[in-house]
Amino acid sequence: MVATPLVEVEALKMHFSMKSGAFSRRKGVIKAVDDLSFKILPNETFGLVGESGCGKTTVGRAILKAIQPTSGKVIYHSKDGDSVDFVPMSNKQIRPYRQEVQMIFQDPYSSLSPRMTVQEILEEPLILAGVTDKDYLYEQASEMIQQVGLRSSHLMRYPHAFSGGQRQRIGIARALITRPRFIVADEAVSALDVSVQAQVLEILIDLKNKFDLSFLFISHDLSVVNYICDRVGVMYLGRMVEVAPTQALFTKPLHPYTEALMHAIPDINERQIRNDILAGEIPDAANPPTGCAFHTRCQYAKDLCKSKTPELQNFADTLNGKEIFRQSACHFVEEIFHHPKERKFNEM
Ligand code: SF4
Repeated sequence: MVATPLVEVEALKMHFSMKSGAFSRRKGVIKAVDDLSFKILPNETFGLVGESGCGKTTVGRAILKAIQPTSGKVIYHSKDGDSVDFVPMSNKQIRPYRQEVQMIFQDPYSSLSPRMTVQEILEEPLILAGVTDKDYLYEQASEMIQQVGLRSSHLMRYPHAFSGGQRQRIGIARALITRPRFIVADEAVSALDVSVQAQVLEILIDLKNKFDLSFLFISHDLSVVNYICDRVGVMYLGRMVEVAPTQALFTKPLHPYTEALMHAIPDINERQIRNDILAGEIPDAANPPTGCAFHTRCQYAKDLCKSKTPELQNFADTLNGKEIFRQSACHFVEEIFHHPKERKFNEM
């Protein structure tokens, strides 16, 4: 039986008007997110990857309504059994759900107020939710700081007394203190040293299982995504081009862009997506290529790719003897799926 999703993103669009200044003649619309649909299941970590500027951070912000989407739906299935669409709701209407939906930020240095003690930082979301009992507030702060591997005695200190990894643990404790069910983690370990990243990722995995959390894990680091995510969505110029369980995506990508991303990681120490290895420049988002937006960089592109935009197609596949469900937006995905080794490089 397929589990009911916790979050369903349907046809999400985030378009920005380009303003023409006194010296600029450019006008138009940037489609930062264009017709994006995906689901996140209970207790699932769904990764969103792509090169810088592909729109993945915008998706996270639009889901949490830090910015108002242009159109689409963000259906959230709440603890009480309600199914609500965040997109048309006002801040006041969303407030009851804020405790269930939280965010972990990239930069542990700037996301914590330097003037507040760790105790005040952790207690603040509960106070904003109306909790006034001081003993209860302290109990919760004390429990949560220990859940992230720090001590109750750390509650009296200020953020500057901690290392980057410890500050990110404090950020995680703050996000979790309202006992959320869904967390958007945007580049949550990118600012940390590689050795510290592994510790913080282990904490996130541990807390996910302990508190039955679901994550939208946004990252440009494919090694991190491979380590922590159950399924991954790959974005290119605002659109989803592939969705698959992590192991299937990394062992047998079904979209030429995903395949190029894999080849753009030369070794374990060079884990970021290298634009110099992925052939060609990322096109201007204000003036994207016609047809398949990836055709200007795709080694398999044919004439059809220049005129017709490929839709995400569903595929049944198998992984470790189990049936899995995956999607790819490429006109030639059948060929890739059935004959991955027979594809010919295009001479264009
Ligand atoms: Fe490449 Fe064409 Fe597939 Fe786009 S549709 S990924 S250009 S082969």
